[in-house]
Amino acid sequence: MDMDSAKNAFAGQRVSATKGGHGADAETGTAHGGKRIITVAGDIKPEELGFCQPHEHLYIEGGPASEIFPQLCIDDLYRTVLDLRAYKKAGGSAIADAQPTFTGRNAESLYKLSKECGVHVIAATGFHKLFYYGEGGAGNPFLELGEMELAKIFADEIRVGMYASPFYEDSRADGGDRSCDSGCIERCGGSGGSSGGERYGDSSGSGGSGGGERYDDSGGIDRTAYRAGFIKTALEPVFTELHAKLFSAAARASADTGVAIMIHVDKGADPLRIAGFLAERGVKPERTIFCHLDRAVPDAGLHRELAEWGAYIEYDTITRDGYHSDAEEARLIRGMISCGHADRLMLSLDVTRKRLRGYGGQIGLDHMIKNFIPYLGTDWMCAEITQKLFTKNPAKAFAI
Ligand SMILES: [Zn+2]
Repeated sequence: MDMDSAKNAFAGQRVSATKGGHGADAETGTAHGGKRIITVAGDIKPEELGFCQPHEHLYIEGGPASEIFPQLCIDDLYRTVLDLRAYKKAGGSAIADAQPTFTGRNAESLYKLSKECGVHVIAATGFHKLFYYGEGGAGNPFLELGEMELAKIFADEIRVGMYASPFYEDSRADGGDRSCDSGCIERCGGSGGSSGGERYGDSSGSGGSGGGERYDDSGGIDRTAYRAGFIKTALEPVFTELHAKLFSAAARASADTGVAIMIHVDKGADPLRIAGFLAERGVKPERTIFCHLDRAVPDAGLHRELAEWGAYIEYDTITRDGYHSDAEEARLIRGMISCGHADRLMLSLDVTRKRLRGYGGQIGLDHMIKNFIPYLGTDWMCAEITQKLFTKNPAKAFAI
């Protein structure tokens, strides 16, 4: 991939930012014009989304990544319910779960959590950092698929239903139930969702799976009827041919389905380069969500550059003193707002097992509403800005 041509494509697509004030309601105006958001429990109207934290983790099965970082295993529905209920009680309405295909994502668990707690859950198809697949991704059958096959998987997960999580199963010595390891959602007195679920959701008529039954159309891998609502990707410091293939597939699937591409950005990676790469492949800026820039990219000017281009910027380095203080996080947020980018900014917590209170962790999913927004203060985090960051922007970012 030619880096200069990618950056030129990025520059060519830049849109002018609305400087000063809070910025204009750009691409969709006030009404969402018949758009919809795909959640695990079916389509909703964008105005139904409500308060949304756009980058969280509700459930991650154990796998290669959590063998290295145990905090990346979030595998007890009962414990997650405790956090999700508290989030709902505090005023939370929706969450985007940022765990993509075959990296410990469990579609059925996300559906159960959504139903149990009455919270809209938007799930991810796509790919993650290669260490989630073990051995740097070497020999992983998913990563070895061609660009077109990957694009089809992503699009099918959005239109038809997400795959179950097959690749860890082979290596599970116990071969047991993968839905929860120490307790079950029934402990909360909830109904959960029965295996396979009842028919719900898809009204787009794109070949649904028939009553939510599991079926098998991909070499023995089960597909559920729970659909993904965006494409997660991961930008690492080294951009290999494998990354180019994966990002190209994501761009194809986004063009095909209309859903947004969420980009995990690692420290040392070049977000402008991937913006150009995606722009070259026809991805519009407002279909991109760049995550973790607050901790991954020290140059706030670059955050603004991406926002001016039209991308959504997601910050989530909150109560993470190992990266920076909450005061520094507040300074970054304020900087974006005062530069007129309130229409492009979203905030979340990016929780891990270590951060979820239900797992004995430090903060809980309700920390944003209960503590961090009050900490920011109402002087500049006024009702209008809060509404934009947590309700309007996620609704626009995830609507198709
Ligand atoms: Zn994350």
